[in-house]
Amino acid sequence: MTLEQQDKKYVLQTYARNYTNFVKGVGSTLYDDEGKDYIDFASGIGVNSVGHGHPILVEAIAQQAQSIIHISNLQVIEPQAKLAQKIVELSGYDMGIFFANSGAEANEGAIKIARKYGETQFEKKRYKVITLEHSFHGRTITTVKATGQESFHTPHFSPYPDGFSYEKSIADVYKAIDSETVAVLIELVQGEGGVEPFDKAEIQNLSAHLKSKDILLIVDEVQTGVYRTGEFLASNLYEIEPDIITLAKGLGGGMPIGAVMTTHKEILTFGEHGSTFGGNYLSSRAGLAVLEILSSLDDEGIIDEMHLYFSQKSKQLVQRYPKLFDKEVGLGLMRGLRAKDAQIQSAIVQNCMSQGLIVLKAGRNTVRFLPSITISKDEIDEGFRRFEKAINTL
Ligand SMILES: *Cc1c(COP(=O)(O)O)cnc(C)c1O
Repeated sequence: MTLEQQDKKYVLQTYARNYTNFVKGVGSTLYDDEGKDYIDFASGIGVNSVGHGHPILVEAIAQQAQSIIHISNLQVIEPQAKLAQKIVELSGYDMGIFFANSGAEANEGAIKIARKYGETQFEKKRYKVITLEHSFHGRTITTVKATGQESFHTPHFSPYPDGFSYEKSIADVYKAIDSETVAVLIELVQGEGGVEPFDKAEIQNLSAHLKSKDILLIVDEVQTGVYRTGEFLASNLYEIEPDIITLAKGLGGGMPIGAVMTTHKEILTFGEHGSTFGGNYLSSRAGLAVLEILSSLDDEGIIDEMHLYFSQKSKQLVQRYPKLFDKEVGLGLMRGLRAKDAQIQSAIVQNCMSQGLIVLKAGRNTVRFLPSITISKDEIDEGFRRFEKAINTL
């Protein structure tokens, strides 16, 4: 049986998978089982924040695995407490953290915190959460309902939880607020929706308005967090003070970990929320290593340098190939090229793969780049050389 046959026979077919069998990764280069190399502009959908096989991360995981992998959240977990402190310090916000295992789970935690806040802090219960069209917040029944894309709300999975509504734009959020609104949940750069950054002043105004109404601002930083946009959090870049922030993807460098952080440290009490795996020894230790690596790169100014270098290269493509692309979009190392249509988008992603370059799709027509934060100039150069080869044939 081939690997493809084995996968198709035994794994539930929920992904339109590519069947290249990768066996090794070094930095931002991956190797398949035939020895062919690929430049990785996807980093496992923004997860491999420090690339593949980073020695500090590998050493941390190996050491931790040799001592303790997991006990449970019934005991104090030293690397978890350290990771929480590190995240809070890097964020600059006075918040407390709950650890989960994924982005969707972190968002579930955020929604629970908001719901309890709405239940306990007002005379009349507030429970409604406003999100945006083209947003993406996860795949659980609740977070899929929070996701502002009708195609995700198929009747197959109904009934969905009540209390979610979607607005077309930030400006529309103001009109949608009513006396039962408890929170607004947004990404600052919509990732899955098409790499769409929001305007800084618009977000700052919304944030101030919500504060004046005692409505919580939840920022889903599952994709934008952990230096993806240049700062530790996109919320830092936008200079806002959200009530709740969620993290996941890049935080563990590939180890599954999610986090919800909030200024409302007393809202949840014993037993109201929990997770068997969340923030265990192994994933927390990995998170610490990731933050150690990235915060020192940030201090040296290397993260800013790399995202400028990367974005210059991707912007040049729009000038050189105006027949293929409308514009270049994104923030930091979260970038996209708006293709003229979905057909061009698909052809590019496929051609890139044959040229030895991994890129992603986003939205209906965006080719998305989410390289690791530690990608080198050489890998960026080689990646864009391969990208041009891939689009030259179109
Ligand atoms: C990926 C993503 C999620 C979901 O994360 P999972 O780990 O797949 O559950 C939620 N929100 C945003 C913004 C994301 O990019």
